[in-house]
Parts: sequence; C-alpha cells; structure tokens
Amino acid sequence: MARKPFFGGNWKCNGTQESVDKLVKILNDAKDVDGSKIDVVVAPTLIHLAKVHESLRKDFHVSAQNFVAESGAYTGEVSVSMLKDIGLHYAIVGHSERRSLYHETDEVAAHKVKVAVDAGLTAIACIGETLQEREENKTNEVTTRQLQAYANVIKDWDKVVIAYEPVWAIGTGKVATPQQAQQVHADLREWLRKNVSEEVADKVRILYGGSVKGDNAEVLIKEKDIDGFLVGGASLTADFIKILKSGL
Ligand code: PEP
Repeated sequence: MARKPFFGGNWKCNGTQESVDKLVKILNDAKDVDGSKIDVVVAPTLIHLAKVHESLRKDFHVSAQNFVAESGAYTGEVSVSMLKDIGLHYAIVGHSERRSLYHETDEVAAHKVKVAVDAGLTAIACIGETLQEREENKTNEVTTRQLQAYANVIKDWDKVVIAYEPVWAIGTGKVATPQQAQQVHADLREWLRKNVSEEVADKVRILYGGSVKGDNAEVLIKEKDIDGFLVGGASLTADFIKILKSGL
C-alpha cells in the first residue's frame, strides 16, 4: 500500500516574530514542493501558533507541540479546544523531551493521544529508546511498550501518525543508519500487524526522527517502512526544504 509521505517540523522552543516570519517565507516560497503530494506540518511554539497558521500557505499545515487536556483548570497550559478553535488539525504527543523533562509517562502520552483524536485532531505520537536501552538490547521492548500504550486508546488510526525517534539521535547529530531505522520501523509495523490489524499495519505512517538533515534524508526515505520524518533542528532552516524534496 502506498502511504503518503509525511514531514513534520518541530520548532521546539525557538523563534522570534522576525525569525518565524522568515521561516514561513522560506516555506511559502518553495513553489516546487507540492503539499498535495506530501503532508507538510510545522509545529511552532504556542505563542507563534496562530500567526503561523494565518500566514502559512494552505497546502502546508500547523501542529501544536503539546497541550494539556480538553479544557479546564490548568494554569499556564493550552487546551485541545483552543487548538481546534484556531483551526489546527495536528498535535505532537509524547515527544522524548516531554517524557524526560516533564515526566510524561506512557499513560499520560496515551491519554493525550486519546484526547486529541477524540477532538478530531491527528496525533503525531512519538516513541523511542534511550542510548542505554539500545545498548541493553531493549529497543524493541521499549518501543512496543510505548506503542502498546497508544494502541490501548486509539480507535481511529486514520488520525494517528507514529514518529520513531531514538532519543540518542535527537539533537545530537548522531543519525540512525538507514538499516537501524528500517529495522525498528519494520518491527513496529509487524507489531501492529499482530496486535492491531493488517489494515492498520499497512496504512499507518511511521516517521523517523533524529538528526535528519538535507543530506541524509534521501537515503533514509528509500527504506521501505520509513514514511517521512519528524525534524527538529533542520526544520528551522532552509535545509528543511531539501528534506521535503526527498519525499517528492
Ligand atoms: C525532534 O526534536 O523531534 C528531532 C528529531 O530533533 P532533531 O532533528 O534536531 O534531532
């Protein structure tokens, strides 16, 4: 089954009004990247979400990096209702930085996926092992445990994209080899086949994330089970356009 390539740009806690305008201009000017052929979704900080949503070309999309709940008494947070209210359709959930810095467990991440999907958003649900876990040969155990938590609550898999992001590759410049990434993606797809359904295993997009750049994207995306990327650092520069072109 042909899966539409998906490219996420996670801007993390970066940007000023000026740099965000420049970045949007780079994306808007990339006329040779056709958003009907690939899904392009960028995730600015909460403070820049509405501005980017208004100024970004309409064949590209905007995602939140996080939210707290449907709505309610959560001082300092943003809700799914607010994301919907400004017209967003995506939210990143379970990023390793949320897990390590804000102690979000598998269950918290899974609950957020449920809240997002129930509200009609598409969740970009992240999983990935630490270096220690990889060295202890626990990659499969950890990633499938994280995936199981999501699977426990997901009813509509059309509203979910999985992002496999080995923690040791995020922001480190140490990219997984195409073989290492493909192996994990194939294992995840096999897990979905056995534990969810053939149909979901065939259609769900599994992104790779971790030090993806313009010059390694092309070889990674050639792998059969890699359907696109979640990109951090390189999504803040024009290099992101080169990454997008790997999917065309
Ligand atoms: C990320 O934060 O999701 C990520 C993959 O970052 P980087 O591309 O900088 O490694």
